This record gives sequence, C-alpha cells and structure tokens, in this order.
Amino acid sequence: MALENAFVKKQSRVSLFTPAMQAKYQRREKIHSSLSNAFENHDFIPHFQPQFNLKTGKIIGVEALARWQHNELGWISPSEFISAAESTGDIIRLGRIILEKSCMQLQRLPADLTLSVNLTLSQILNEGLPEMMLECLTDAGIEAHRLKIEFSETQLPTKLDSVWRSLSEIQECGIAVSLDDFGSKFAALRHLTEFEWDEIKIDARYVDRAFNNERHAETLLAALSLIANMKSNTVIEGVETVERLDALVELGCDHGQGYLFSGPMDIDQLITLFFSRARAEELASV
Ligand code: C2E
Ligand code: CA
Ligand code: CA
Repeated sequence: MALENAFVKKQSRVSLFTPAMQAKYQRREKIHSSLSNAFENHDFIPHFQPQFNLKTGKIIGVEALARWQHNELGWISPSEFISAAESTGDIIRLGRIILEKSCMQLQRLPADLTLSVNLTLSQILNEGLPEMMLECLTDAGIEAHRLKIEFSETQLPTKLDSVWRSLSEIQECGIAVSLDDFGSKFAALRHLTEFEWDEIKIDARYVDRAFNNERHAETLLAALSLIANMKSNTVIEGVETVERLDALVELGCDHGQGYLFSGPMDIDQLITLFFSRARAEELASV
C-alpha cells in the first residue's frame, strides 16, 4: 500500500505505511466487491443539482449526479464508484440506470427544464449509446432537446476523431452536448474549436485561478468571448459566494450552479424546492 501510494505521489517518492492507508484500501475493496449486488438491489439513484440563470435566479435545468446508497457504507460519492464501475465494465449499465431514472423524474418537473447527465469516455464510445438514450427518452415521453450530455475535458484522449464522431451522432439525435470541467486541466483551444459544443461548463478551479492571477483572468475572458462567438452557452460551476456571483455576472456569465444556490438533492427535495418557489412567486404577485 505504501508502495502504491509512493507511485501515485508526484513530488515525494517516499511513503510510510499508515493505518489510514489500510482503511482506504479496505473501503475501495468493499466498493469493488459489492458493485454487482448494488445493481440487483437498485442502490443507484440520481440526485439533482439545479442550474440557475445568474441574473434572474430562474432555475433553467438540473444536472443528474449519481449516488449509491450502500447498506454498510452509507451514501457513496461517484468519485469513488465511477472508476470502480469503469474497471469492471459495469459503467454501461450504470449509465442506463441513471439516465432511465432521471428521465422518469424529469416528467414531474416543469416542462422547460433541461436535464444534464455525465458520461465517461467508454460510455461515449459505446456503440449502442444513441439508441439507448433515445429509448430512455421515449419511455419517459421526454423530447430529445431537453437532454444534455456532459463530457469532461479531463477525459479527452489525444486522438480525438472517434470522440468527435460519437458526439456528432448524439447531436444528430437532437441531444445537446456539453464540454464539462473546461479549464480544470488543459483549457485547450483545440478542444473548443474542433467540435461544435452546445455548451461549455467552466470549471470552478479555472475561475479561482482567474480571480487570483491577472494572466489567468485574461485567458478566461478570452475563452468566454470565444465561446460566445462560437454560439455555445456557458455554465459556471462551483459558484459558492455572493462576491463570486457578482463578479461573474459583471463578466457577462449567464448561467451557473453551486452551493451558493443549492447542492445536489434527491427528487423529493427538488420538487419541494419548485413548489416553494412557485408559492413565493404567487405571494409576491398578490
Ligand atoms: P462534475 O460533473 O464536475 O459534477 C460537479 C461536482 O461538484 C458534483 O460532485 C457536485 O456535487 C459538486 N459541486 C456542486 N456544487 C459545488 C460547489 O459549489 N462547490 C464545490 N466545491 N463542489 C460543488 P459529485 O456529485 O461528487 O460528482 C463528482 C463527479 O462524478 C462529477 O463531477 C462527474 O464527473 C462524476 N459523475 C457524477 N454522476 C455521474 C454519472 O452518473 N455518470 C458518470 N459517468 N459520472 C458521474
Ligand atoms: Ca458534470
Ligand atoms: Ca464539472
């Protein structure tokens, strides 16, 4: 375990074994070994994080974020189980479950709301993906233009042709395609220009860098203007403070999501949120 840790570390190659390492390793093993049972027990469910118009406060869409309710470990975050599902090949059926359930839940929400779902590289390259998505949409009676898939910049390989082909097929079905985590790693112009993204999601870490360093601020401004010129929408991730919100609105950013407004929540909490907002609007108009 110490050896593995030393390999992962970038700077210091010396790693001493600690009991915390063992606990982490055991947790990872447990997650791996209970994956197949989780499918049988229907333990995977989507939570939803609302996306807002930063100027009006209106909710414009929701992002589905997978959660696993484990009988022993409690709620497990996707950062722990997505890679496990990738390594066992279960990611394809996990994707279907999340999409199926999210589309069904979307029926209960206002009809102008969009639904964003996250997909990894192997999901994108899976041959049956467009058919599977259309099936889920048809079963739930949801129009294709309400669905958006998010694909992370961190997952883009060096050879991009097959990715562009798969993403184009998705767009041909009427489903929107969004570049997630832009600026978390590369912020490469090539990624912006080689494909006609419907939306670019700016990573919170890029925004942080821009607010702390003038040169990064210049590149962010240039990226925002390029994205606007290319007719893609922008969504800012991780909006956590009012100061950040004000500064982003000043920069011309329209859409965002983050803990300042709301974290991810289950469908019951989301419905409560819509009802309480509708009630507040009703009272304000009296
Ligand atoms: P992501 O797509 O970048 O999702 C945003 C993550 O940021 C979510 O973490 C969300 O809970 C968190 N977040 C939201 N607002 C804030 C904020 O204001 N500040 C900060 N610091 N964080 C915020 P989560 O739910 O743990 O998801 C982690 C990642 O797992 C996601 O990152 C996404 O890449 C992946 N993921 C989630 N669900 C799925 C899924 O169904 N399929 C696939 N393939 N990947 C998924
Ligand atoms: Ca995402
Ligand atoms: Ca993201």
